[in-house]
Amino acid sequence: MKHTFKYRANPTKTEEQWLFAETRHQKQLQNYMLQMRHQMWDYGSKSVSMYDQINHLKALRATTSHYSEHPQDMQVSTIKRVTAAYEHFQRRCKEGAKKKGYPKFKRSVRSLTWELRKYKRKTGERVRQNPIRETGTRYNRLKVPKLGEVKIRQHRPLIGDPKEVTLKKTARGWYVFIVCEVPDTVPCVPKSACGVDVGTHDFLTTSDGEKEENPRFYRTCEQKLIRLHRDLSRKQYRSKRWYKAKDALAKQYDIVACQRLDFIAKAVYKLFHHKDFDAVVAEKLKPRNMVKNRHLAKSIADASWGMFFKWCDWVAKRDGKYFHQVPPHHTSQTCSECCQKSPIKLKLSERVFHCKSCGLKLDRDHNAALNILHRAACALRGEVWDTILCETRNQLLQLACWS
Ligand SMILES: [Zn+2]
Repeated sequence: MKHTFKYRANPTKTEEQWLFAETRHQKQLQNYMLQMRHQMWDYGSKSVSMYDQINHLKALRATTSHYSEHPQDMQVSTIKRVTAAYEHFQRRCKEGAKKKGYPKFKRSVRSLTWELRKYKRKTGERVRQNPIRETGTRYNRLKVPKLGEVKIRQHRPLIGDPKEVTLKKTARGWYVFIVCEVPDTVPCVPKSACGVDVGTHDFLTTSDGEKEENPRFYRTCEQKLIRLHRDLSRKQYRSKRWYKAKDALAKQYDIVACQRLDFIAKAVYKLFHHKDFDAVVAEKLKPRNMVKNRHLAKSIADASWGMFFKWCDWVAKRDGKYFHQVPPHHTSQTCSECCQKSPIKLKLSERVFHCKSCGLKLDRDHNAALNILHRAACALRGEVWDTILCETRNQLLQLACWS
């Protein structure tokens, strides 16, 4: 499997200028390659392959210095990016998707990507070069083709075989992403499982009844963002002050995004490692559709459940654990004790679930989390997990026997 390591990069001013110039060149190349595909199809009904374009690039590099003075590895990666965009477009056409997503010309490119080449060692084995040179000081050096070495803050070591490097400009500076190939982890034998119910009131509630508060990062700095938006709108378009205000706004949004990511990463780690659950079960929600509810859209987007599920899935794969999603229907309406579904839908303001048939009174999220865990147990009955996960459902099985 692939791991991506993210480090902060600190290029000097001249290095930064070179990087910006390089992004402009890659943008031009990307648009040129896209135009080539358009024209070949429009006038000759011919499709162009990635290898045609790479060969074309080779010819261009041999004749003009405009192309040869830029790193070839980055140019090839740009061509691969265009190819990927086209392939995805063709796939969507075949699937008959509503939005085809025709590849567009780019106004700007923010990142530079290059693949690391393999070289032969004296022993005969082929190894990829390490993109980082260790200096033994606080800062290490990243090798960038044609530029030289850029200072990076390597706060943790690289693991695995590095394959691809991306340098990206964000609102708060440059970052480097190194993709490494790591051997797959052997999945463990699951011994404990936990159901998780996500919400806007509390971020998550586990089937043990523990809660994680919703930090509401967007809501806490909403006033600040409003002020920054207002500042921007009052500046002369594309003046120096306008750019300054734009940067300040982008930085604030970046801070919110980073806070959210940090919180989610820690919450996921807590579930899998501090509490030591081998399997985590959650609902299969569709945040994209739920955001259409205009009364709750901001809160739902702020909670970023999609990112939480993605991280759960990824951490489970990385550490040999399990993450499973079950259908979300009526989890908060059904009683976790007697399985009776109440006909009345609970309002969001009602925090306690009260069962009319067995008299159970439980926190609504805790009840939903238990239901989610039961559902996963039902779905997996007959497999290895059966006996372990079904323990929580023993009471239900007994009830079924009696009736
Ligand atoms: Zn009940």
